[in-house]
Parts: sequence; structure tokens; C-alpha cells
Amino acid sequence: MAIPEAVSRWGWISTSANSAPPFSFTQAMARDAMADHNSQVPTPASDDAFAEVKAKVDLVKVVQEHVRLTKRNKDFWGLCPFHQEDSPSFKVNPQMQSWYCFGCERSGDVFTFVELIEKTDKRGALQMLAERAGVELRKLSPEQKERSDSRKRLLAMLKLAAQFYEYVLWSTPAGEPGRRLLATRQVNEDNARRFQLGYAPAGRGFAEYLRAKKRSLADAQEGGLLRRDGTDFFAERLVIPIRDERGQPLAFTARTVRADEQRKYINSPETPAYVKGRVIFGLDLARDEVARRGHAILMEGQFDVITAHGAGIQNAVASSGTALTDDQVRLLKRFTDELLLVFDADRAGRQAAQKAVLLAAAHQMRTRVATVTGAKDPDEFLRAAGADAAKQWEELTAKAPSGFEFGMEEAAAGLNLSNANHVELAARKLREWIAQFPAALQEDYRERAKRWMGVSGHLLAAEPDEKRSPGRPGAYKVGKNGLETSPAGKKMTVGRYLLQLLAVRPVAFDLVRTKITPDELDEEDRGIYERMLETYERGGVSGLEKELAGYPAEEQDLIRRAWAAPPPSVDDEVAVELAERITLDHMRGRHSGIIRELSEAERGKDSERVARLEAEARELGHAIDEMERRG
Ligand SMILES: [Zn+2]
Repeated sequence: MAIPEAVSRWGWISTSANSAPPFSFTQAMARDAMADHNSQVPTPASDDAFAEVKAKVDLVKVVQEHVRLTKRNKDFWGLCPFHQEDSPSFKVNPQMQSWYCFGCERSGDVFTFVELIEKTDKRGALQMLAERAGVELRKLSPEQKERSDSRKRLLAMLKLAAQFYEYVLWSTPAGEPGRRLLATRQVNEDNARRFQLGYAPAGRGFAEYLRAKKRSLADAQEGGLLRRDGTDFFAERLVIPIRDERGQPLAFTARTVRADEQRKYINSPETPAYVKGRVIFGLDLARDEVARRGHAILMEGQFDVITAHGAGIQNAVASSGTALTDDQVRLLKRFTDELLLVFDADRAGRQAAQKAVLLAAAHQMRTRVATVTGAKDPDEFLRAAGADAAKQWEELTAKAPSGFEFGMEEAAAGLNLSNANHVELAARKLREWIAQFPAALQEDYRERAKRWMGVSGHLLAAEPDEKRSPGRPGAYKVGKNGLETSPAGKKMTVGRYLLQLLAVRPVAFDLVRTKITPDELDEEDRGIYERMLETYERGGVSGLEKELAGYPAEEQDLIRRAWAAPPPSVDDEVAVELAERITLDHMRGRHSGIIRELSEAERGKDSERVARLEAEARELGHAIDEMERRG
């Protein structure tokens, strides 16, 4: 398979990156110099640099700039800066140059401390500490140069892969399943090519192509494009490049074309080129329209954005694969001060919207929130509207309330404001909502809330204990990935037990993955299970340690806790037992679902359906009996 050398889609991208943008790009760049976005991240520094810096800084002194420490025996103790507490459980060990919190169980060295406290990454922490220690990072050039070269090779490889997949999709018979999928999602070729969608064929197509071009398979493996056995990681999937704001592909997300595949989407791992939570999907295509319209439309999914652009809504972007993060907001702020949030219509979507409102407010950005009606997400809404999409979209967004008002409506949802008890409850919720905004906005918001609710002022006055909570700058309670930090552990279920076991003993996946499919797990365990499985398939037993930083904060928490305090028994036998318990629970759940459906069908006198359901229930009942006997 050959791609014409003259695939010249990259021409316009480099032009657009070099031409002067219509807004103050340089100013924004200067303002965000510390933000150190993906595309500007130079190279991961050598281990030598970390060692040299570590030898020159004192963890105790660094911590003392943020925490008042008291010496007790050999250690120093203070109030943990990473969770709220009244008595010190944060310990610094000066000999080991390490720290540990007994409350939230976070721990690490001077780099992890700076990473967390300054909300930066490893590279950023190194830079800050190197400056402090007077270590000149550039001196380490030979190895640094090697890393920089390898990052460049990686970027070139990702570009090549995107071209390959796009070529397969449109110009080969093997691309047929991908073209069919796009047709069902009403994405036409023009639009698909704008996003450079592609198709990864089954087998080793990409590896063979690289061999023919005498390119290194190692680079492709590092980029997460090939499995260890040389097969394509994204085989039989529609491939969506995740590109930076200049159009350079940094990673891929890929949707299966097979009905029998459990994992709908899989993603590239984090690499030296790609840090999840730092990219905004679609920004390369949307940036001009964002500048022209004065706001960006922020959605949740890639297909929301693709469909939106297809419908002419070209300032749409997505946070892509994570809850909105600090880094993403900073990136967006380079292009606009206003976000129109259009998230999924379900509860999770509305909660995500509220968090995004607060995160944006913390960066002095305005928000509005539009809620799609009669559809689960913008993609479905726009497709259902068909030719009428642009008009219906206009109507939807015209009545979008401000982010603050949206939160008020959510707070009062389901409450009857002519009932005194409800009024008090609503007032409390509003106070909580307001307290999460930056202090500078709170007075004005209280006034607006009063007018909106029509309640007497004292109900909305900030309570003393709320005054020192999140609204205060620096105490903003959003974790690195935009998730609220929740040190409290979740209740222990069979699924949780299994996840903890797999975190400690990933090799048990070999047994577990043949026993259960992700959809047998509780909804809240499914995502992390799939992610861990992906990591295991890609990186083997040591994969989790390498990729953990890219996991959502909550999931990182669960895994770190398991590492710190493993579940009571960790072995293959227990793993298999847990997996079987999960299957059994799932079957029981399905069984009672069928029984419920059966009585409905009987009431409706639908004899054909009754017969079918009875057969299903019988079969499932046998299977359950069988399993219970064995267990
Ligand atoms: Zn803590």
C-alpha cells in the first residue's frame, strides 16, 4: 500500500501557523509562558537533571514556603496543603527527602510536591526547581538533544500515521467499514477530511507500510500505534486524530466499527508528544471562527464537534477524553474570553457543565450553558434536526443562560419556591454555588440571586464557614484533571475489590479478561477497568505505573490507594472468583430485568414477546443455577 508522497494537506497548516493571527497571539503567549502547553513543551529532561536538582534543593525549605512545619523527632509535621484538615497529618522526612500525608495518602519527593502545589507537570516542576537551585538545564544537551530528536521523530510518525489512515479510509477497499460508519453518522467526505479522519485496517497494515518506507517500528510503538506483536493498535477502528491548535496530530482516539466489540473507543497512551488534558479537540479548525464570533462552543465528545462543524457551527471544540482541565481552560483563554458550554443532557453532563463554569470563572472567563432538548448530546440533536440544524441550533443557543444562572436553576431544580422549607433549601444551595466562585464575583452574584429568587437578603448572606472555602483564590477545589478532589474512599463492592486487585497484580488480567466483559461491571467501575485493561495490553505488568499520570484523578486515587494498602488477598484464584461473582451478579440483574419485562408483556397480551422472554429467562436461569452450583 502506498501513499502518494505529495499528500499536501500539511501545507495550509504551516501557513496558518506562520501568518499573523487576527488577535493578540503574542500577548497571550507571553501571559501563558508558564502554561507550557503541549506543543511548546520542549523535551523531557534527562534523569541527570532531576538528580542534580534534587541534590541541590532541600524539600523541607521548599515545603516551608507553603506549609508551617513543626519538628517532631526527626520529621517535620504540618497541615496538608492537598486536603482540608485541622490537625497535622502531613509529614516530611528530611533524611529521605520525601513526604507523606496520612489523611489523603498522597506522597512523593520534592518534584511531586511542586507539581501538585504549583499545578504544573514534571517538566514544569523541574524548571522551577532548577531555577531555584541555579542549575542550568541546557548544559545537559547531548541527552536532551536525543530526547528532542526523538520527540520530533514521534511527531513525524503521528503525522505519517494520520496520512496512512486517511488514505486507507478513502482510497482502499479496506476502508469500507470506516466509510460505512461515517455514512451512518452522516459525516460527509469533506467534513471527514477536515478532521483528517481515517481507518485502521485489520492486521499489520501500518507496520508493513512502515517497513516498505524503511521507517522505524520502534517510533510507532512508542507512539502507541502498534502493539507489541506488530499488529495495529487501532485495527478495525475509525481513527480520529487529536491535533494541537496548529494541526499537528499528537494522539488518536478510535471508534470500533464492529458491533461485537465491547470497547467502543480506545485512545493513544500519553507520550512525550501528548499529555492528556492539555489538548482541545478541534481548536486548529475552530480558532479563526472563535476569534470572529468572540466565543468558543465547548462540547464533550469528538463526534459532537465533527457533526457541529458539518452543520456549519465552526467554533465548536471539545475537551476530549477528560473532564475540562485547568490547562485546557488556559489554552482556550489564549483565543477567547467566553465559552458556550453545550454538554450532554444527562445528570453527568449537567454536573460537568457546572464544574466547567467554575473552572472558567477561576480564569476570568465568561460562560453560558445551552442544554440540548430531546436528544442526549449535541451530535444527536444536530443530526435529528437535519437540514434545519443551523436554525434550531441558533434558537437553542440564543436562550442559553449565563453559567451562573444555569447553576442557580440547577440548585433550585425540583424545589417549589412557594414552600418555606423549599425556599430555605434553595437558599442554602445557592449560597454553596456562589461560594465556589472567585471572591470578586460573589457580592454581585448574591445580589442577582436575591432578585432571581425573591427571598429576603439574610438567607443568601455568606455563612462564616463558607467564607474560607473554595471561592478564595488558591483554595480552589478542583484537582489536576478538573475533578473535585475527594479523599474519601468509595464503598467496597466486588467490582472495586477486583479493580484494586488488578492494580496490584495486573497479570491477573490474563485470567479476568476472558471471564468478564466490561459491561458486566457497574457503570462507575467500567471506565477505569477498560482503561487499565488497555494499559495492560499495551504496556504489560509495568504499564500502569507508566501511564497512571494520564488517568482521571479519581481513578489515580483508587489505584494509588490500592498500591498503598492492597486488598486482603491478592492472587489469581481470588481474581477469578471475583470475576465470576461479577458475572453472576450481572446475570441475576438481567434475569430480574427479563422477569419485569415479562409481566409487562403479559399485561400487553403480546404472546410472541412472552414466549421469547420466557425462553430467555429459562436459559438464563439454568446458567445461573449452573454457576451457583459450581461456586
Ligand atoms: Zn493530605
